[in-house]
Amino acid sequence: MNTASGQPLTLDSLGERVLSCTKCPLHETRTNVVFGEGDPNAAVMLIGEGPGEMEDQSGRPFVGPAGQKLDEVLASVEIARESIYITNVVKCRPPGNRVPAKPEMEICFPYLEAQIAMIQPALIVTLGNTSTQWLLPEVPGITKSHGTFYTWRGRILLYPIYHPSYLLRNPSKAKGSPKYQTWEDMKKVRRWLDEYTGS
Ligand code: URA
Ligand code: SF4
Repeated sequence: MNTASGQPLTLDSLGERVLSCTKCPLHETRTNVVFGEGDPNAAVMLIGEGPGEMEDQSGRPFVGPAGQKLDEVLASVEIARESIYITNVVKCRPPGNRVPAKPEMEICFPYLEAQIAMIQPALIVTLGNTSTQWLLPEVPGITKSHGTFYTWRGRILLYPIYHPSYLLRNPSKAKGSPKYQTWEDMKKVRRWLDEYTGS
């Protein structure tokens, strides 16, 4: 994507442009666009589904209850939120937090593709089925696919974990519970990151 003046887009200038996007019907009901935030040079990019109520109000990803749960998940393996990049498949809140419709995801997708191209993460962590199967339709459901390293477009590792909202609905810490499994899955991310950064 280029700007009208032919200048290459930066992550910041893309973000500014997306703030006024009206390409899909979700713009009609949104309060704020939630573009994404974090380290533009992050090795790890987290991709959720779409903004919820608090995100719509604040313009920031994962700041509501699911965001608090995500913060816990990250803290459990000492990954700082500022060291990664966090965004969603759609940048505007689907009314009532419904799953984004396929045409909405299709219309919004060039923004996510551009974000990935600019950030060039080595690892994409998808949160839940929607973002996982949007990027890799052939991947089985999240109860099977979580904690498995896949490859996206032949270059970037793609690693599904349970969506933090699912962990909120299934709070058991027992062995085999989604929460327990997410901790195990995140320990693998931690190990991957340590190897990647050589620490
Ligand atoms: N759920 C998501 O998928 N993304 C957010 O930003 C918040 C909740
Ligand atoms: Fe534009 Fe994406 Fe928002 Fe739809 S969801 S209006 S495509 S930014």
